[in-house]
Amino acid sequence: MTDKTLHIVGGGMAGSEAAWQASHLGVDVVLHEMRPKVETFAHQTGDFAEMVCSNSFRSDDDEQNAVGLLHWEMRQADGLIMATADQHRLPAGGALAVDRDAFSAAVTEKLRARDNIRVEYGEISDLPADGNWIFATGPLTSPALGEAIARETGAERLAFFDAIAPIVYADTINMDVAWAQSRYDKGETEEEQKAYLNCPMTKDQYEAFIDALLAADKTEFHEGETATYFDGCLPIEVMAERGRETLRFGPMKPVGLTNAHDPENKPYAVVQLRRDNALGTLFNIVGFQTKMKYGAQAEVFKTIPGLEDASFARLGGIHRNTFMNSPTLLDNQMRLNSRRNLRFAGQVTGVEGYVESAAMGLLAGRLAAAEILGLDLPTVPQDTAMGALIHHITGGAEAKTFQPMNVNFGLFQPVDGLKGGRRGRKDRYKAYTDRAKTEWSDWLSNFA
Ligand SMILES: Cc1cc2nc3c(=O)[nH]c(=O)nc-3n(C[C@H](O)[C@H](O)[C@H](O)COP(=O)(O)OP(=O)(O)OC[C@H]3O[C@@H](n4cnc5c(N)ncnc54)[C@H](O)[C@@H]3O)c2cc1C
Repeated sequence: MTDKTLHIVGGGMAGSEAAWQASHLGVDVVLHEMRPKVETFAHQTGDFAEMVCSNSFRSDDDEQNAVGLLHWEMRQADGLIMATADQHRLPAGGALAVDRDAFSAAVTEKLRARDNIRVEYGEISDLPADGNWIFATGPLTSPALGEAIARETGAERLAFFDAIAPIVYADTINMDVAWAQSRYDKGETEEEQKAYLNCPMTKDQYEAFIDALLAADKTEFHEGETATYFDGCLPIEVMAERGRETLRFGPMKPVGLTNAHDPENKPYAVVQLRRDNALGTLFNIVGFQTKMKYGAQAEVFKTIPGLEDASFARLGGIHRNTFMNSPTLLDNQMRLNSRRNLRFAGQVTGVEGYVESAAMGLLAGRLAAAEILGLDLPTVPQDTAMGALIHHITGGAEAKTFQPMNVNFGLFQPVDGLKGGRRGRKDRYKAYTDRAKTEWSDWLSNFA
């Protein structure tokens, strides 16, 4: 082992892909995986890249879907996860679904067959002072390592559960109904005073909304997840169960706000949306973390005045999920600001899902290898799916309210001259994916 060895902790989606990429660039890799010696509540095997729940990598449409574009970018970079998924594909319409056992067995076999990858089974429970490391320990990072990360970053910058409020594309909010205003017009600048979008409700609309919340289908916690964690962060439907007025005195309180479209009439309740990214293309519904099923969420949230035609970049959820406040902790190379020999990748950095995690593993593997090999790389282009994600988690997202993110077109910089809103969607998405493909191919050519 030399100081040019790359240690990767975690053989999940991100760690497996990172190891593959670095190994193919000629870097010696030690892949540390705690399973099967130490288990998690969700994993069932000792194999790499185990899919702990669904067997789908979601949409494979690389022209009209941001996840499909991420597939394309990973395939262009000779990604292990995509190549193996393609080999073990199952019929699933436009989605990329796989035979999960065959898939992870094949990933394991391919990694073990590499001459320059050594696998070491065992838990890493501290952050090493020296060497090149990528930590890709996922949503179920072992408790000892979680404590070590929290000691380094500050406990308030490492979360053990997410509490995801739904995120809406800004251009699908009806501004003839909603208006921009911060409560009590707080803030020094006009931008601050108008930081929130407000959707007003009459008494009847509020009562109907509470009925819909109470009746909606909810998801259960996975076995092993406890439901006792979220005292300060209750799902909205649980707040509604505690009393019909609870929300009106909580996230839906109407105080300090005047309806710009109807100043004489005080709303009975107000739903607030807050900007979710620097581009201003995404807004989250404040305080609306929820365990309602996705179908029910879309139905219930579209009854909110102003959101009747809303498109959701992501729906809400609450899960056991260890993740760091990456916008304040990581640089644009995914290195810890306080210890540049340590990179982080995968779900622990605040992306969510198999595909996004593998994608961030791919980037971390390439970035770490380039650093070890002394290769000078331009920044990952922001107009690619990879770039949009890494840019979001390492700086574009609001740090104060940072929650895990799926890839979506709301993270992309607009293309000049194209129509916003639902109508222009098809042309816009095609323009985003065309632009991304060119820029990603250009960036990859740095490794040629
Ligand atoms: C219950 C549950 C259900 C989910 N369902 C879905 C779903 O249906 N679809 C989806 O896209 N995503 C789902 N996810 C999220 C999914 O698990 C992740 O997106 C993806 O697996 C993350 O990849 P990763 O490489 O970051 O982490 P993982 O794939 O979890 O890999 C992390 C690896 O690190 C190892 N490890 C942890 N700590 C240490 C340590 N200290 N030392 C050594 N090794 C360690 C773990 O054993 C694991 O192998 C789910 C997550 C959970 C917890």
